[in-house]
Amino acid sequence: MARFVFDNSYARDLPGFYAPCPPQTVRAPHLLFLNQALADELHLDLDADAAQAHAELFAGNALPAGAAPIAQAYAGHQFGGFSPQLGDGRALLIGEVIDRHGRRRDIAFKGSGRTPFSRNGDGKAAVGPMLREVLIGEAMHALGIPTTRALAVVATGEPVQRETVLPGAVLTRVAASHLRVGTFEYFAARDDIERVRRLADYAIARHDPDIAGSATPYLDFLRAAIRRQATLVAQWMQVGFIHGVMNTDNMSIAGETIDYGPCAFLEQYVPERAFSSIDTHGRYAYRNQPGIAQWNLARLAETLLPLIDADQKRAVALATAAIEEFPPLYRERWLAGMRDKLGLNATMADDADSALIDDWLALLETAQVDFTLAWRRLAAAAEGMAEPLRTLFADSAALDAWLVRWQTRCRAEDGGDGRTAARRGERMRSINPWLIPRNHRVEEALAAASDHGDLGPFNALLAALRTPYNETPARQHLADPAPGEFTASYRTFCGT
Ligand code: AMP
Ligand code: MG
Repeated sequence: MARFVFDNSYARDLPGFYAPCPPQTVRAPHLLFLNQALADELHLDLDADAAQAHAELFAGNALPAGAAPIAQAYAGHQFGGFSPQLGDGRALLIGEVIDRHGRRRDIAFKGSGRTPFSRNGDGKAAVGPMLREVLIGEAMHALGIPTTRALAVVATGEPVQRETVLPGAVLTRVAASHLRVGTFEYFAARDDIERVRRLADYAIARHDPDIAGSATPYLDFLRAAIRRQATLVAQWMQVGFIHGVMNTDNMSIAGETIDYGPCAFLEQYVPERAFSSIDTHGRYAYRNQPGIAQWNLARLAETLLPLIDADQKRAVALATAAIEEFPPLYRERWLAGMRDKLGLNATMADDADSALIDDWLALLETAQVDFTLAWRRLAAAAEGMAEPLRTLFADSAALDAWLVRWQTRCRAEDGGDGRTAARRGERMRSINPWLIPRNHRVEEALAAASDHGDLGPFNALLAALRTPYNETPARQHLADPAPGEFTASYRTFCGT
């Protein structure tokens, strides 16, 4: 029997913030994916169990001792409009464990059946979208981007009715917490200031213990959440990740990427790109993500106003100042990341570096160059091999002029030290991935698994995504951009 050492602080400390709810049992559970490395990190004792026992466990048919399944309450701004009552409609927090690094981690099911928050939904999930969470989440993790992670996926052996009938699945997801901006909004919308305070105290104890003794803990907490989000979104932008549904209920206070629904990666550098079928106005387009993050954080700030200061005017002034820190913070993180990607070590003149980066991106945009390939080939250009990069551009005159500026900046930094220059390409290849989850390869892998029960392409892609910086000729087909026609007509869907 599997053994988890649970310590369920949310269930224990926050009664009234959730509804206890058992998972629905499923007919014929079959294990599709198990993240053994993550299980080890979480101290989960699975070793003695066979695959069928794992399937029963991660289907929710046989909960481990000490699990306390609950559906968490939350609200959320969805595409700008407020829904006061969302909550875990198809998810359950089954408990928390302390991992090998001493960090508290949530273990949650997604797709485990109806809860008191299900409204008209069936509480279920399908194989394709749950395996998508595995692929994208593990890719993000390998790219060093904070993210929730998939521990297991079980096919339920039951059909799920969507536009077509799909095979059902349950995902087990691990998160630093499932506290969302929308969790705060739920209680603030009910004018339940005491519960907002308890939630904030809980969040501070869990994510920002160093500010617990501060004279202004709630303002400090807001600022910490702002810093985490600025860092996260800067990292998204640097790999071309488009979340696709940045509603406030999908924004984690812990600063992890959460809820992989209609997400996708940029191919050509087209900043206004949005792939989600329901994002008709491009609210959550690539280039809007920093602004939307700030907008969401302003919704968080509103919920904290009564805690920030008893004088409402003063509270608003303090919270506004904190929110206004987002753009420069984001810019600083973004600039630091872009300097790294460009192979620049030192912080030199910000204005000149900003212009260098902006002009590079303008080149990519004008020529509609593949974002990932361009950065990767720039690493070769650092070693004097600019030809592979040039071939990405129909007209390379503007590129050549820019390369001269970039090389001048690099030389200024190296101070004539040839060894520094030689290491630049290598360093750039350890920062600019060779492989991202290419949308067409993700779709292929999911279709094979969902339509034909063939996990081969999924497993091959997953293995490749774990080492995104290693150029591996045998995996070239996974790294190549999608045909232009594919990207032009590509639409993603919410995993409901
Ligand atoms: P999402 O778009 O997945 O972030 O979900 C938004 C809200 O809809 C959350 O409250 C979910 O719990 C709920 N929801 C999504 N899919 C389902 C479903 N199949 N059954 C019940 N609730 C769902
Ligand atoms: Mg969600």
